[in-house]
Amino acid sequence: MHSDIKFILISEEEIARRCRDLADAINHDYVGRQPVLVGLLKGSVPFMAELMKRITLNIEIDFMDVKSYVGTESCGDVQIIKDLDSSVLGDDIILVEDIIDTGRTLKKVRDLLYQKGARDVKIISLLDKPDRRVCDIKADYVGFEVPDAFVVGFGLDFNQKYRNLPYIGVLKDECY
Ligand code: 5GP
Repeated sequence: MHSDIKFILISEEEIARRCRDLADAINHDYVGRQPVLVGLLKGSVPFMAELMKRITLNIEIDFMDVKSYVGTESCGDVQIIKDLDSSVLGDDIILVEDIIDTGRTLKKVRDLLYQKGARDVKIISLLDKPDRRVCDIKADYVGFEVPDAFVVGFGLDFNQKYRNLPYIGVLKDECY
């Protein structure tokens, strides 16, 4: 275990097992369709990789990078840092996120994908903190519900560090 980690919340094995279950659910729900997996950079990268290798459908992948901020609207707004490479007109999209906290980012990105002409947008998130939600949004597929604590690892960072940890953990207090 990394010396900055206080404890492991979700192990590497638990994540792999859950990703297999989530991929099975997608394989079942999308029979006959070819969804586009859209990952939100950078946190979704390990989750996207673990998930997509278990999906047996013909899929495409794409990535967006957005920054969410609280502006005049109650659910905030997002600034697009990197847009999609391809058109999503008429596509079935599965939006892949590392964690849903307030729900601001996903609500805005989902709205944006519909504005771009997507046929359907579903959300999959590795982690969910339902107690923190301020926007009315719910993931269609969730890996794990987590308590209201700041977690790192498996894509999730603190000051851009710890994304490479193979598990989800809580940092020691002195690391903040
Ligand atoms: P939301 O728009 O749902 O409030 O924010 C989602 C984003 O906030 C996530 O993609 C992630 O970057 C960040 N975030 C929320 N909670 C945590 C956490 O516990 N740990 C880390 N590392 N990032 C978090």
